Amino acid sequence: MKSWYLIRPGVIELRDVDIPSPSHYEILIRIKTALTCGTDLKAFKRGHPLIPMPGPFGHEFSGVVEDVGNMVSGFKKGDCIMAVHTAPCNNCDYCKRGAFNLCDNLMNEKILGAFSEYILLPEHIVRQNTFKKPDEISFQSASFLEPLSCVIHGMSGLNINPDTKVAIVGYGAIALLHLLVLKSVGAKVIVVGRDKGKLKRAIDLGADEVVSLTDRICGLNADIVFECTGNVEVWEKSTDLVRKGGVVILFGGCPKGTTARFDTYRLHYDEITLKGSFHYNPEDVKKAFNLLSKGLQVERLITDVVGLNELDKVFRLLSEGKGIKYLIET
Ligand SMILES: [Zn+2]
Ligand SMILES: [Zn+2]
Repeated sequence: MKSWYLIRPGVIELRDVDIPSPSHYEILIRIKTALTCGTDLKAFKRGHPLIPMPGPFGHEFSGVVEDVGNMVSGFKKGDCIMAVHTAPCNNCDYCKRGAFNLCDNLMNEKILGAFSEYILLPEHIVRQNTFKKPDEISFQSASFLEPLSCVIHGMSGLNINPDTKVAIVGYGAIALLHLLVLKSVGAKVIVVGRDKGKLKRAIDLGADEVVSLTDRICGLNADIVFECTGNVEVWEKSTDLVRKGGVVILFGGCPKGTTARFDTYRLHYDEITLKGSFHYNPEDVKKAFNLLSKGLQVERLITDVVGLNELDKVFRLLSEGKGIKYLIET
């Protein structure tokens, strides 16, 4: 089968490798669609601590069951499926506390290789984070299950309703996914960023207002801020956007070793909560699945649809800041 490998930063290679065969509890998926993701782009540009090189590349996908192990129940050849690329071990201390997204084994036991013709789903993913795709969800939308689960996780525990004023900082794929989810519950959403052209996309997707990061960001008084850039200066500025007693969700990961400075007066006397958000729990994946079933218009974030052979072109475009998410059809 054809499978793209990330060799080193800036270099990917289409390899011919054996089609894996499923053991007892595994299933083999014939990939139909895969999506590029900000994490893939980070790995492509500068390497990524959680993505080994050289190694298979890509982690957002949907497809059709090609073969199942002899002990698999619930899935059979020909089923259309949607899945994510991780699932918790249920054994480590974090899993026992219910913090499944922080599972010590999550990243060692993930699968990569969505930019391929086939992918093998191991038992823990089959059992916890694999779903039959309902007919009303297209393969294109189904491949958004993983990034949408991350977005849902960042919103867990927050009371978001039509009276909630939310600021999203950034206009990349993750920021715009936040926008779609927040508008689906009727929140008032302001998107904040530097590039006025890119901010227009947010208006097209339903933002109530866009604000340039260089303009009047003080006095926005958002109840909740989602920082979606992974830029340390923006992390620091994000507290200027929130009202007293508000919450800032730090969603965009910064490079390892980065430190940020915050105004202690604001954090203390205005009682601001800063909270990181990483990955997702199985519960978030189920919520994301339900949102897709209800028709969340995620496919509006797809910049272009290309064939598997064109992945190098796509990563060159993404590296130049062109496009949001590309869909690879296999
Ligand atoms: Zn992703
Ligand atoms: Zn665990």
